[in-house]
Amino acid sequence: MKDCRNLRDYTLEELEALFSERGLPAYRGRQIFKWLTRPFVYSFSQMTDLPKHLREELFGEFSLALPELKDEEISADGTRKLALLLEDKEIIECVIIPEEDHYTLCVSSQVGCAMRCAFCLTARMGFRRNLRPHEIVGQVLRAKEILAKENSVNKKPLRNLVFMGMGEPLANYGNLLKALQILLHPKGFNFSKRRVTVSTVGLIPQMKRLGEDITVKLAISLHAADNETRSRIMPINKRYPLPDLIEACRSYPLPKGWRITFEYVLLAGINDTVEDAQKLAILLRGIPAKVNLIPFNEHPLLPFKCPSETQILRFQEVLLAAGYVATIRKSRGRDISAACGQLASRLAA
Ligand code: SF4
Repeated sequence: MKDCRNLRDYTLEELEALFSERGLPAYRGRQIFKWLTRPFVYSFSQMTDLPKHLREELFGEFSLALPELKDEEISADGTRKLALLLEDKEIIECVIIPEEDHYTLCVSSQVGCAMRCAFCLTARMGFRRNLRPHEIVGQVLRAKEILAKENSVNKKPLRNLVFMGMGEPLANYGNLLKALQILLHPKGFNFSKRRVTVSTVGLIPQMKRLGEDITVKLAISLHAADNETRSRIMPINKRYPLPDLIEACRSYPLPKGWRITFEYVLLAGINDTVEDAQKLAILLRGIPAKVNLIPFNEHPLLPFKCPSETQILRFQEVLLAAGYVATIRKSRGRDISAACGQLASRLAA
């Protein structure tokens, strides 16, 4: 392993500036940026449109390291969980979810997480460290490589990214923003801003920055409709209480026609009553909102139960009657612990 700067941490503009500073034309930066957004590119020697002496110079100075695929588990429903080994031997997970005409990748932003949500397995790992931009983008490249190797005749594109894997994305703001800039750039990965969702527990100052810095879809991990219940299951609520979070959502600069997604994990006896649903409907009034109800994925290490199907449907009905778009998330990859809130690196040292 080379102990040097990783060129995959650079945005296009930074690469152009890097080459200009060295007295080289900025277009060299554009050429390299293109190479770095393609799967199966691991070395400077593959960048055949760069002069040989430049490739050798860069090889001496920069790394192109990517997270290594350590393990892959495939669920009965086709969901694939990848365990990726980082240079310092930490392990992260990301999940490829098959949809009808495309794939969605659930991306991690940190090793572990500091937010301590009571219903989440990742929380039990504690916080280890932030992921660097190349470690975030590297998850997308590894997923693309796996999908490209598939023999399927009806190949589907990896079209959607959701930052809902391990970690709180906005707690790693600088690296997240760079990774998003790399992933959305039309000269690179070219993901559509409509198809990239960043989920947050509600770090209000960073939410404001995100709205100013880049346009992507926003999801809020809400999980309760009153302050007391939310503080009980999400300690971050004591720092950024529910009324302040809702106010930040109201003032979030949403493009016309877009909605904020509110994630709501249904926990039996905690937040799943008809009264809770009514409170939620009132709380979100006036916000362009979509509610994503997530029946809790039970796990022996977590002290919660999933409500009955009747209870879940009743909860949904209240929201639908109040005029909201309210979906019930189908649990994916439950048999391989790839479902929501179940990512935690069992392979971590
Ligand atoms: S739900 Fe998300 S923010 Fe909360 S502890 Fe788990 S990974 Fe962290």
